[in-house]
Amino acid sequence: MEVFDLPEFDGHELVAFGHDAASGLKAIIAVHSTALGPAAGGCRMWPYATTTEAVSDVLRLSRGMSYKNAMAQLPFGGGKAVIIGDARKAKTPELFEAFGRFVDSHGGRYITAEDVGTTITDMSNIARSTQYVSGLGRAPGEAGGDPGPKTALGVFLGIKAAVKFKLGRAELAGGSVAVQGVGGVGYHLCGMLAGEGAKVLVADVRAPAAERVCQEFKATAVSVDEILSHKVDVLAPCALGAVLDATSIPRLRARIIAGAANNQLAQGQDGMALLAADILYAPDYVINAGGIISVAREYYGGATQAQVNTEIQAIPQRLTEIFERARRESRTTNAVADQMARERLARRPQQLVA
Ligand code: NAD
Repeated sequence: MEVFDLPEFDGHELVAFGHDAASGLKAIIAVHSTALGPAAGGCRMWPYATTTEAVSDVLRLSRGMSYKNAMAQLPFGGGKAVIIGDARKAKTPELFEAFGRFVDSHGGRYITAEDVGTTITDMSNIARSTQYVSGLGRAPGEAGGDPGPKTALGVFLGIKAAVKFKLGRAELAGGSVAVQGVGGVGYHLCGMLAGEGAKVLVADVRAPAAERVCQEFKATAVSVDEILSHKVDVLAPCALGAVLDATSIPRLRARIIAGAANNQLAQGQDGMALLAADILYAPDYVINAGGIISVAREYYGGATQAQVNTEIQAIPQRLTEIFERARRESRTTNAVADQMARERLARRPQQLVA
């Protein structure tokens, strides 16, 4: 595999492979940029079919974290880690302790937290061997803990901003939202949407997860194959990335795409197809920053949960600025967001809020 020649390689500062024979750990850490601070981003555990697939994913995700942290004005650069393995079968405390040693060996250049397939318990095991971890359990009222509910709050507020901008409606009541994936983020998002009186459609490859939100929030379950193409106001992808591509976009009937999943566009040019179809796209790394805001405040300490929530309230304003600029300049929202993120990355760290 020629890492430097992969299309996802974008001048990353570091790509490190970690192996621990005793625990079976196979992990990759990618640091995209430390221009704005230590590289922070979650650790994904996923049964990648090939190492190349894992490298491509960690490269793409870590670049996304540089953009996300820059846009959220956090004193963090962008990094990410992947552990190759099935989170339902291959987890042991020893595996995460070994991963912690791997993180620690980079001396704080990379800070880890939860992502798909990892939990607060896993972070506690990582914390046995490194201090460079966040997303741990915290006392009530203190910032931190599971980032999922905070990500959901940012997405919820972002959906409201998108509905206001695109559909001219200040309320979600009576509107409809299709949520693809009701795990750590999607579950909480459904609760907030239902709480505002939105009609919620859900699909999850894990049937019990979908059943739970149907029971608790009166959502309606639809098939995994059809969730993307329902006629709704908003489609919220909250499962995995690359769901918006040349095959799925022509089938979309939503007016707005606004969800938590990272890297929703298979390629940058898919943003053009959304624009041509008159579908408003909320750039993923802007709308889903609630979790990393919480992770950052937990890591640096001294912030309360209420302060984190206040910081998350800035997400809808940031999105509206992107929507307005994109409309003004007849450009895609993803191109506008990428440009803004790159401009921030090029600035000095002291200009950012610590
Ligand atoms: P999760 O693993 O807890 O939940 C994902 C859910 O999607 C699972 O229930 C899974 O069964 C389901 N799913 C997988 N493939 C599916 C498919 N094809 N159709 C329908 N459902 C499917 O993950 P999460 O923490 O809720 O994160 C969701 C997404 O948001 C991920 O892309 C993640 O990278 C992103 N994200 C999460 C956070 C966070 O704070 N957890 C922050 C930023 C971004």
